[in-house]
Amino acid sequence: MLNTAVKEYLEHLFINSKLNHLPKQFGGYKIFSSPLIGVAKGDDPIFLKFKEVVGPEHYTPQEMWNLNIKKKVPSNQLRILSIIFPFTQKIREESLKPIKLKRILIPSEYYSIARNYANEFITTSMEKLIKFIENEGFDGVAGVLSNQFTVFTKRNLYSNWSERHIAFAAGLGTFSLHEGLITEVGCNVRLGSIITDCPLYITPRKNDAPYSNCLFYVNGNCRECIEKCPANAITEDGHNKTLCNNYRLKISRKMVPRLQTYLKPHFRRINNEWTEESYPVGCAFCQFGVCCMDKNPTAE
Ligand code: SF4
Ligand code: SF4
Repeated sequence: MLNTAVKEYLEHLFINSKLNHLPKQFGGYKIFSSPLIGVAKGDDPIFLKFKEVVGPEHYTPQEMWNLNIKKKVPSNQLRILSIIFPFTQKIREESLKPIKLKRILIPSEYYSIARNYANEFITTSMEKLIKFIENEGFDGVAGVLSNQFTVFTKRNLYSNWSERHIAFAAGLGTFSLHEGLITEVGCNVRLGSIITDCPLYITPRKNDAPYSNCLFYVNGNCRECIEKCPANAITEDGHNKTLCNNYRLKISRKMVPRLQTYLKPHFRRINNEWTEESYPVGCAFCQFGVCCMDKNPTAE
């Protein structure tokens, strides 16, 4: 099965899934436009490097495969398919109109709901894609949907399957000053991935430079995300995850009661324990109205 078949399947899903829409009270607008895909090879040495740069708990594709799929497949025959979910122009336009509530800047309701609904659509897309691949005679597993997936809070916030790192490995983009992944359709995207033995062709990285799509690192000419962050969580030294997370919690405390009727619950594991349901609504001021919002600013 070729990459085009996977891409076409996803395109169809993005167009036809009811889950890829805001509720009708919010205009029923589409949340994500057309997907992008990239593929890394299972024995790419970069996956070992992620144990150094993300954390020693970060799984390699082979480890994740062995823990979830009985069929023995050598790492050089595994493929890691990364998927970019770009927010639509409409969501981005609405996100340029934040709200000020008791001196706290909070994102537009459209963005908060889109960010919240995105989780179910992304999860369902990965599950459906695995079924599609299985129908073709192959297997697949999504790292973030596996029983092993967890977020850790002990040193910093990180997980044992980082979709941003997987997307980087698959040549879909690079890291940046605000720590989002800057892809060819910008940083205002969500990500998903699956590991499969389906012989997809590899989409090589242009190079291994981790920040080559961010203008701050390329020529020092951009600091737009620093200026946009209301929490001062971004400086020339990088992104402070603790300050960022604290601000996101502040937003949640304001936004969740306001939108509770519409929001969908989300469950995740933190430090290997399932948490109570939560209602993630995001922040992402650093991704709106900046030069890397919807394009790679270093592309000619
Ligand atoms: S806004 Fe500028 S400095 Fe910040 S991540 Fe984007 S390109 Fe880099
Ligand atoms: S998500 Fe919000 S708090 Fe975090 S860096 Fe971006 S703008 Fe700042």
